[in-house]
Amino acid sequence: MVDPEHAWRAIVASVTPLPSALRAYDQSLFHYLAQPVLADRDIPAADRSAMDGYAVRADDVAAAPAVLRVVGEIPAGSTAQPALTPGECVRIFTGANVPADADAVVMVEDTEATADDRVTILSPISRGRNILRRGENTRQGAVLLQQGAVIDATAVAVCAAVGCVELRVHARPRVTVITTGAELRQPAERAGIHEVRDSNGPMLVAAIAEHGFGPADWVCVPDDRAELLTALRQALDGSDVVLVTGGVSVGKYDLVPDVIREAGATIHYHGVAMKPGKPQLFATVGSNRCLFGLPGNPLAVLTGFHEFALPALRYLSGCLEADCRRLLRFPLLSGVTTKGRQRHYLLGRLVHAAGGMAVEPVPNAGSADLVAGSKADGMIIVPVGVSSVPAGACVDFRPWRLL
Ligand code: AMP
Ligand code: MG
Repeated sequence: MVDPEHAWRAIVASVTPLPSALRAYDQSLFHYLAQPVLADRDIPAADRSAMDGYAVRADDVAAAPAVLRVVGEIPAGSTAQPALTPGECVRIFTGANVPADADAVVMVEDTEATADDRVTILSPISRGRNILRRGENTRQGAVLLQQGAVIDATAVAVCAAVGCVELRVHARPRVTVITTGAELRQPAERAGIHEVRDSNGPMLVAAIAEHGFGPADWVCVPDDRAELLTALRQALDGSDVVLVTGGVSVGKYDLVPDVIREAGATIHYHGVAMKPGKPQLFATVGSNRCLFGLPGNPLAVLTGFHEFALPALRYLSGCLEADCRRLLRFPLLSGVTTKGRQRHYLLGRLVHAAGGMAVEPVPNAGSADLVAGSKADGMIIVPVGVSSVPAGACVDFRPWRLL
């Protein structure tokens, strides 16, 4: 049995990020950068007006109100650069380049049109006011998106802004889910009182998609050596990561450990000191194929998925190791107790409390209690050796959804 941190170290030590290739920036959502994205020019590329108004020389309006002659107009996108002599100004619009002779922009609300070519500036203005300076957001050549960053909506926008239309990103792992159990029926089937509908399969397929790693394949097999072996071989053929649920413990019908050995897998750990989720394993096949054996009970599946399998998908995709398993911290809304002999994962729901967000424990009847799981947002982590955490104390929280 390994502790959860050793389990993660074993995963990182056994796999390497998938190769990278060039990909269109707008087809790269959820991909991780293998090369940084740099600014191709200063942003903004010139001094720009932040307002609709008048580009002036601040000295001309030091004793405002002051009447200035309007000698031109610069809409956004214009290349016009009218010269200003003392007493002159230019009508300007948001996003337009500020002429070299002006050093401030007076917003239109602080002016009064006086005649066709005259405007009254109502109060003085300091130099630089309402001007976005060239390069104030970023300088040409600066790293805007680091290697290992994930492409999300703002990253897509940054790529667009600097004309970086092809990115070098890592491939994303292809995933197959195999659910095992003689008692399992398809969700659309009638289930006898000796049977359960397979909820782990659809849950994992959905969780994988929620985190940008879909679409995953899913097959369900009974507790039968030959069928499991065939399913495993097929899955390993077509995917980088295989998640198996059920049959991973040490009972007579827990065939997964034996059968994955038969399929040529090397088991790196079997048994993790955590609750729920103790009987789980991680194995590799050949170079870089990963296999996670997760328990059958739904809440144990979720802990195994979020502690190890999902972080491994991120790692394989080129996510920096430090970002693969991000934890949040929240105060506990009400106290919790555990047996303290191993690390505990307790269902938690995020709520708005007086001082901000807090996590509220969600009562449940054990790791089969999927219904309680559907009321939670993630897991409260109680370290080994800690048997009670009082209300108000801050706890580690593993969110199930992207925050
Ligand atoms: P096992 O780890 O195979 O002993 O399964 C533990 C418990 O999880 C048993 O009660 C199973 O019926 C249940 N279980 C296993 N696989 C699934 C599944 N795919 N969907 C729902 N429940 C499952
Ligand atoms: Mg079973």
